[in-house]
Amino acid sequence: MMPGSFNQTMKIAEQAKEFMLVHQITPVPSHYAVAYCYVSEENLLLIKKIDEQLASKKSLDAIFIDALFSEFLSNSQNIEDNIFTPFGETLTSTLAQLENHVSSEKATISHLNKIGKTLGQLGEYKPLQNITTFLLNAIGQSTAQHQSLSTELYKASEEVSQLKQKLEESRQEALIDTLTGLLNRRGCDKRLQALSLNNIHSSLVIDIDHFKKVNDSFGHSVGDKVIQLVAKIIKEHVAPDDIPVRYGGEEFVVVLSNKSQQFAHTIAEKIRLAIAKLKLVQRQSKTQLPPITVSIGVAELQNNMTWTTLFNNADQALYKAKDSGRNCCVLASINTAAQLELAN
Ligand code: GH3
Ligand code: MG
Ligand code: MG
Repeated sequence: MMPGSFNQTMKIAEQAKEFMLVHQITPVPSHYAVAYCYVSEENLLLIKKIDEQLASKKSLDAIFIDALFSEFLSNSQNIEDNIFTPFGETLTSTLAQLENHVSSEKATISHLNKIGKTLGQLGEYKPLQNITTFLLNAIGQSTAQHQSLSTELYKASEEVSQLKQKLEESRQEALIDTLTGLLNRRGCDKRLQALSLNNIHSSLVIDIDHFKKVNDSFGHSVGDKVIQLVAKIIKEHVAPDDIPVRYGGEEFVVVLSNKSQQFAHTIAEKIRLAIAKLKLVQRQSKTQLPPITVSIGVAELQNNMTWTTLFNNADQALYKAKDSGRNCCVLASINTAAQLELAN
């Protein structure tokens, strides 16, 4: 659909309604979205599926239409691309057209007023004066109508903008871990797309030591609090262009963009020491928690390595850190003899 073509949108909306009537599709918003998408001829695959269903004389029942909605339209990006964006554009251009009308009507009114005044001064052109008054009233009415329509349309376009903003917010939320506010895996993948595999980047894999004991001794909510604190310390030690991620339960990944593994190792040590220094007391029982420690694997992205390989290398280094007694950082290296292990 051409953006901004109000009449075209209205025509498609009308056709979508007609299509639903003809095929006895229950008029709920998701079904309407499918019908609208079909008649607007925007998604060839959706059209093909509906046409095949019709060709095999099967009905367009709720199950079929719901499946199409899930497949093609339930994703927020699809809704935005197929419905909100074209609709919003149409509203904006219609508003602009109306504003043009209103301002040209206002100019006409001012001309007519001048004519009316001049005729009034001349006194002898009463019939002409009546016509001007009539025109003034008629145009005044149409201006008022246009203005109220324009208010309505403005409200609608505001609603579309708000919905688009909410969609964007929920898309962002889907990339963030709710417990810690760090990125989740999806968020991590998204940020990684912006990094070049040709540059040097490093990765930390951080895992809390004997975390099960914290849960077992102090309960799950204390465990959650510990995860949050560890996340906070991680976040405090990384730069804005780094990518701190809650990768799983009590496991974190940090991608240090454009940084060597030596640098990453220094950061890892700072994180490890800051966590080991925490003094935690359970509020209710006033019991002091044993020190929380983490083990960290460090690796560097080399020679067009994939992110998965980088994380696997860091993970293997993490295993070595666990084997070496935990609370330490281990650097992944092809030459194990060169590995730098720092224990407390
Ligand atoms: P290790 O030093 O070998 O890492 O020992 P560990 O006990 O930390 O290792 P393990 O991976 O066996 O246990 C992790 C525990 O973390 C198990 C799971 O119940 C707990 N856990 C995972 N996610 C959460 C969470 O969101 N909140 C809390 N409180 N616990 C979690
Ligand atoms: Mg653990
Ligand atoms: Mg773990």
